[in-house]
Amino acid sequence: MNPRCKPKNKDAQNAGTAFAQRLPGKAGSSIIPAMQGDFHWPDFLPAFREAAEHDGFLRTVIAETSAGPIEAWLRRGSGPRVYLSTGIHGDEPAGPLALLDLMKGGFFSDPEFRHFDWAICPALNPTGLALGTRGNADGIDLNRDYWNRHTPEIAAHVAWLESWGWPDLFLSLHEDSDTSGFYFYEINLREDQPQRADAILAAVSPWFPAEPGPEIDGHIPRGPGWIYHAAEADLPEHWPEAIYLSKSGCPLSFTFETPSSAPLAPRTAAHRAAIQAACKQLPQA
Ligand SMILES: [Zn+2]
Repeated sequence: MNPRCKPKNKDAQNAGTAFAQRLPGKAGSSIIPAMQGDFHWPDFLPAFREAAEHDGFLRTVIAETSAGPIEAWLRRGSGPRVYLSTGIHGDEPAGPLALLDLMKGGFFSDPEFRHFDWAICPALNPTGLALGTRGNADGIDLNRDYWNRHTPEIAAHVAWLESWGWPDLFLSLHEDSDTSGFYFYEINLREDQPQRADAILAAVSPWFPAEPGPEIDGHIPRGPGWIYHAAEADLPEHWPEAIYLSKSGCPLSFTFETPSSAPLAPRTAAHRAAIQAACKQLPQA
Protein backbone atom coordinates (compact mmCIF):
# COMPACT_ATOMS: atom_id res chain seq x y z
CA MET A 1 0.00 0.00 0.00
CA ASN A 2 1.35 3.41 -0.83
CA PRO A 3 0.01 6.69 -2.08
CA ARG A 4 0.64 6.98 -5.76
CA CYS A 5 -0.64 8.35 -8.93
CA LYS A 6 0.36 6.76 -12.22
CA PRO A 7 1.81 4.32 -13.03
CA LYS A 8 0.23 1.27 -11.51
CA ASN A 9 2.02 -1.53 -9.73
CA LYS A 10 3.62 -3.01 -12.82
CA ASP A 11 5.41 0.23 -13.67
CA ALA A 12 6.44 0.86 -10.10
CA GLN A 13 7.97 -2.60 -9.88
CA ASN A 14 10.07 -1.87 -12.94
CA ALA A 15 11.56 1.14 -11.23
CA GLY A 16 14.13 -1.09 -9.54
CA THR A 17 15.60 -2.03 -12.89
CA ALA A 18 15.84 1.60 -13.88
CA PHE A 19 17.82 2.36 -10.75
CA ALA A 20 20.26 -0.44 -11.36
CA GLN A 21 20.98 0.63 -14.91
CA ARG A 22 21.06 4.37 -14.46
CA LEU A 23 22.87 5.07 -11.28
CA PRO A 24 24.43 7.43 -10.47
CA GLY A 25 21.45 9.34 -11.88
CA LYS A 26 23.00 12.62 -12.94
CA ALA A 27 20.37 14.97 -14.29
CA GLY A 28 20.44 15.77 -18.01
CA SER A 29 22.38 18.76 -19.25
CA SER A 30 20.45 20.12 -22.20
CA ILE A 31 16.79 20.52 -21.43
CA ILE A 32 14.37 22.38 -23.64
CA PRO A 33 11.44 23.32 -21.42
CA ALA A 34 8.11 21.81 -22.41
CA MET A 35 4.85 23.73 -22.25
CA GLN A 36 2.09 22.11 -20.21
CA GLY A 37 -1.03 24.17 -20.68
CA ASP A 38 -0.50 27.37 -18.74
CA PHE A 39 2.47 25.93 -16.88
CA HIS A 40 5.82 27.22 -18.12
CA TRP A 41 8.71 25.98 -16.01
CA PRO A 42 11.19 28.84 -16.65
CA ASP A 43 8.64 31.30 -15.26
CA PHE A 44 7.54 29.22 -12.29
CA LEU A 45 10.31 29.55 -9.71
CA PRO A 46 10.81 33.30 -10.24
CA ALA A 47 7.06 33.86 -9.85
CA PHE A 48 6.92 31.69 -6.76
CA ARG A 49 9.92 33.42 -5.28
CA GLU A 50 8.45 36.89 -5.78
CA ALA A 51 5.16 35.92 -4.14
CA ALA A 52 6.74 33.96 -1.29
CA GLU A 53 9.21 36.70 -0.39
CA HIS A 54 6.37 39.21 -0.43
CA ASP A 55 4.56 37.03 2.12
CA GLY A 56 7.56 36.70 4.42
CA PHE A 57 8.78 33.23 3.45
CA LEU A 58 12.49 32.45 3.50
CA ARG A 59 14.15 30.35 0.84
CA THR A 60 16.36 27.32 1.32
CA VAL A 61 18.04 25.64 -1.65
CA ILE A 62 17.85 21.90 -1.07
CA ALA A 63 19.79 20.94 -4.20
CA GLU A 64 20.76 22.22 -7.60
CA THR A 65 19.79 20.42 -10.79
CA SER A 66 20.48 21.15 -14.44
CA ALA A 67 16.97 22.65 -14.72
CA GLY A 68 17.13 24.79 -11.61
CA PRO A 69 17.14 24.48 -7.83
CA ILE A 70 14.95 22.38 -5.58
CA GLU A 71 13.66 24.95 -3.12
CA ALA A 72 12.00 24.90 0.27
CA TRP A 73 10.16 27.99 1.47
CA LEU A 74 9.71 28.40 5.22
CA ARG A 75 7.86 30.75 7.48
CA ARG A 76 7.91 30.06 11.19
CA GLY A 77 4.80 30.31 13.30
CA SER A 78 3.39 29.21 16.64
CA GLY A 79 0.50 27.23 15.15
CA PRO A 80 0.27 23.81 13.53
CA ARG A 81 3.26 22.71 11.48
CA VAL A 82 2.14 22.11 7.90
CA TYR A 83 4.30 20.89 5.04
CA LEU A 84 3.14 21.22 1.43
CA SER A 85 4.90 19.38 -1.35
CA THR A 86 4.34 19.04 -5.06
CA GLY A 87 6.01 18.90 -8.46
CA ILE A 88 7.72 15.60 -7.80
CA HIS A 89 6.06 14.27 -10.96
CA GLY A 90 6.92 16.66 -13.76
CA ASP A 91 3.82 15.96 -15.83
CA GLU A 92 1.46 17.06 -13.05
CA PRO A 93 1.44 20.87 -13.18
CA ALA A 94 -1.76 21.55 -11.20
CA GLY A 95 -0.07 21.15 -7.82
CA PRO A 96 2.73 23.67 -8.38
CA LEU A 97 0.29 26.12 -9.94
CA ALA A 98 -2.12 25.72 -7.02
CA LEU A 99 0.63 26.61 -4.55
CA LEU A 100 1.64 29.59 -6.66
CA ASP A 101 -1.99 30.75 -6.79
CA LEU A 102 -2.35 30.38 -3.02
CA MET A 103 0.86 32.29 -2.40
CA LYS A 104 -0.09 35.10 -4.78
CA GLY A 105 -3.59 35.22 -3.36
CA GLY A 106 -2.48 35.71 0.22
CA PHE A 107 -3.72 32.37 1.53
CA PHE A 108 -0.76 31.94 3.87
CA SER A 109 -1.38 35.33 5.45
CA ASP A 110 -5.10 34.75 5.96
CA PRO A 111 -5.92 35.37 9.65
CA GLU A 112 -6.97 31.74 9.95
CA PHE A 113 -3.63 30.39 8.76
CA ARG A 114 -0.95 33.03 9.15
CA HIS A 115 0.25 31.69 12.51
CA PHE A 116 0.87 28.22 11.07
CA ASP A 117 4.44 26.96 10.89
CA TRP A 118 4.74 26.55 7.12
CA ALA A 119 7.13 24.64 4.90
CA ILE A 120 6.57 24.47 1.17
CA CYS A 121 8.41 22.56 -1.54
CA PRO A 122 6.67 23.75 -4.72
CA ALA A 123 8.80 21.93 -7.32
CA LEU A 124 10.63 18.80 -6.16
CA ASN A 125 11.55 17.57 -9.64
CA PRO A 126 12.96 20.49 -11.68
CA THR A 127 14.25 18.38 -14.58
CA GLY A 128 10.95 16.53 -14.89
CA LEU A 129 8.97 19.75 -14.71
CA ALA A 130 11.17 21.24 -17.43
CA LEU A 131 10.67 18.22 -19.65
CA GLY A 132 7.04 17.58 -18.76
CA THR A 133 7.84 14.03 -17.72
CA ARG A 134 6.80 12.04 -14.69
CA GLY A 135 10.34 11.02 -13.82
CA ASN A 136 13.46 13.15 -13.65
CA ALA A 137 15.76 13.67 -16.65
CA ASP A 138 17.14 10.18 -16.07
CA GLY A 139 13.65 8.69 -16.25
CA ILE A 140 13.53 7.82 -12.56
CA ASP A 141 10.33 8.22 -10.56
CA LEU A 142 11.54 10.30 -7.61
CA ASN A 143 8.41 9.49 -5.64
CA ARG A 144 9.49 5.87 -5.34
CA ASP A 145 12.98 6.67 -4.04
CA TYR A 146 12.39 7.56 -0.39
CA TRP A 147 13.65 4.21 0.85
CA ASN A 148 16.78 3.78 -1.28
CA ARG A 149 17.49 7.50 -1.89
CA HIS A 150 19.53 6.70 -4.95
CA THR A 151 18.73 9.95 -6.72
CA PRO A 152 20.58 13.15 -5.84
CA GLU A 153 17.22 14.93 -5.63
CA ILE A 154 15.72 12.65 -2.97
CA ALA A 155 18.96 12.15 -1.06
CA ALA A 156 19.12 15.92 -0.68
CA HIS A 157 15.41 16.25 0.05
CA VAL A 158 15.53 13.68 2.84
CA ALA A 159 18.59 15.35 4.33
CA TRP A 160 16.71 18.64 4.34
CA LEU A 161 13.58 17.10 5.89
CA GLU A 162 15.64 15.51 8.62
CA SER A 163 17.18 18.88 9.41
CA TRP A 164 13.83 20.65 9.38
CA GLY A 165 11.80 18.11 11.36
CA TRP A 166 8.34 16.61 10.94
CA PRO A 167 5.02 18.32 10.34
CA ASP A 168 1.69 17.90 12.08
CA LEU A 169 0.12 17.70 8.63
CA PHE A 170 1.61 16.79 5.28
CA LEU A 171 -0.23 17.71 2.08
CA SER A 172 1.03 16.20 -1.17
CA LEU A 173 -0.37 17.37 -4.51
CA HIS A 174 -0.57 14.97 -7.44
CA GLU A 175 -2.57 14.18 -10.55
CA ASP A 176 -3.88 10.99 -12.12
CA SER A 177 -4.46 10.45 -15.85
CA ASP A 178 -6.74 7.43 -15.32
CA THR A 179 -9.51 9.05 -13.34
CA SER A 180 -12.25 11.58 -14.04
CA GLY A 181 -13.02 12.59 -10.46
CA PHE A 182 -11.01 13.80 -7.48
CA TYR A 183 -9.64 11.43 -4.88
CA PHE A 184 -7.16 11.45 -2.06
CA TYR A 185 -5.14 9.21 0.19
CA GLU A 186 -5.26 9.65 3.94
CA ILE A 187 -2.56 8.23 6.20
CA ASN A 188 -3.61 8.81 9.76
CA LEU A 189 -1.65 7.54 12.74
CA ARG A 190 -4.02 9.00 15.32
CA GLU A 191 -7.74 9.26 15.99
CA ASP A 192 -10.04 8.51 13.12
CA GLN A 193 -11.83 11.69 12.08
CA PRO A 194 -14.01 10.92 9.05
CA GLN A 195 -15.38 14.47 8.98
CA ARG A 196 -12.06 15.62 7.54
CA ALA A 197 -12.60 13.52 4.44
CA ASP A 198 -16.14 14.83 4.10
CA ALA A 199 -14.89 18.42 4.34
CA ILE A 200 -12.22 17.90 1.68
CA LEU A 201 -14.59 16.26 -0.78
CA ALA A 202 -17.24 18.92 -0.18
CA ALA A 203 -14.70 21.67 -0.81
CA VAL A 204 -13.62 20.11 -4.11
CA SER A 205 -17.16 19.25 -5.28
CA PRO A 206 -17.71 22.50 -7.25
CA TRP A 207 -14.95 21.31 -9.60
CA PHE A 208 -14.89 17.53 -9.45
CA PRO A 209 -17.03 14.74 -8.08
CA ALA A 210 -15.43 12.20 -5.82
CA GLU A 211 -13.93 9.39 -7.89
CA PRO A 212 -16.26 6.42 -7.51
CA GLY A 213 -15.23 2.90 -6.59
CA PRO A 214 -15.16 0.00 -6.42
CA GLU A 215 -11.42 0.47 -7.01
CA ILE A 216 -9.31 3.63 -7.24
CA ASP A 217 -5.66 3.51 -8.31
CA GLY A 218 -5.45 -0.14 -7.35
CA HIS A 219 -6.99 0.37 -3.93
CA ILE A 220 -10.39 -0.33 -2.39
CA PRO A 221 -11.58 3.07 -1.19
CA ARG A 222 -13.16 3.61 2.19
CA GLY A 223 -15.70 5.83 0.47
CA PRO A 224 -15.99 7.63 -2.86
CA GLY A 225 -12.75 9.50 -3.50
CA TRP A 226 -11.19 8.45 -0.19
CA ILE A 227 -8.40 5.88 0.15
CA TYR A 228 -7.64 5.29 3.79
CA HIS A 229 -4.13 3.96 3.60
CA ALA A 230 -1.93 2.12 6.04
CA ALA A 231 1.47 3.62 6.80
CA GLU A 232 3.12 0.89 4.76
CA ALA A 233 4.47 1.01 1.22
CA ASP A 234 2.86 -1.15 -1.46
CA LEU A 235 6.34 -2.07 -2.65
CA PRO A 236 8.80 -2.30 0.24
CA GLU A 237 11.78 -0.65 -1.45
CA HIS A 238 9.85 1.99 -3.37
CA TRP A 239 8.63 4.36 -0.74
CA PRO A 240 6.83 7.51 -1.84
CA GLU A 241 7.24 10.71 0.13
CA ALA A 242 4.02 10.19 2.10
CA ILE A 243 5.16 6.79 3.39
CA TYR A 244 8.55 8.19 4.32
CA LEU A 245 6.93 10.99 6.30
CA SER A 246 4.50 8.70 8.11
CA LYS A 247 7.34 6.30 8.95
CA SER A 248 9.25 9.27 10.32
CA GLY A 249 6.42 10.21 12.65
CA CYS A 250 4.23 12.63 10.68
CA PRO A 251 0.81 11.80 12.16
CA LEU A 252 -1.43 12.84 9.28
CA SER A 253 -1.08 13.19 5.55
CA PHE A 254 -3.36 13.73 2.62
CA THR A 255 -2.27 13.09 -0.96
CA PHE A 256 -4.63 14.87 -3.34
CA GLU A 257 -5.14 13.60 -6.89
CA THR A 258 -6.85 15.62 -9.62
CA PRO A 259 -7.78 14.14 -13.03
CA SER A 260 -5.12 15.31 -15.47
CA SER A 261 -7.43 14.78 -18.47
CA ALA A 262 -9.53 17.75 -17.30
CA PRO A 263 -8.63 21.40 -18.08
CA LEU A 264 -5.88 22.81 -15.91
CA ALA A 265 -7.91 25.61 -14.26
CA PRO A 266 -10.36 23.39 -12.37
CA ARG A 267 -7.53 21.05 -11.39
CA THR A 268 -5.61 23.87 -9.74
CA ALA A 269 -8.82 25.18 -8.15
CA ALA A 270 -9.55 21.73 -6.73
CA HIS A 271 -6.10 21.53 -5.15
CA ARG A 272 -6.50 24.99 -3.65
CA ALA A 273 -9.87 24.06 -2.18
CA ALA A 274 -8.59 20.77 -0.80
CA ILE A 275 -5.60 22.44 0.86
CA GLN A 276 -7.81 25.04 2.49
CA ALA A 277 -10.28 22.43 3.71
CA ALA A 278 -7.55 20.25 5.20
CA CYS A 279 -5.94 23.21 6.99
CA LYS A 280 -9.30 24.26 8.42
CA GLN A 281 -9.60 20.85 10.03
CA LEU A 282 -6.47 21.29 12.13
CA PRO A 283 -6.59 22.15 15.82
CA GLN A 284 -5.47 25.75 16.16
CA ALA A 285 -3.08 25.16 19.06
ZN1 LIG B 1 2.05 12.19 -9.04
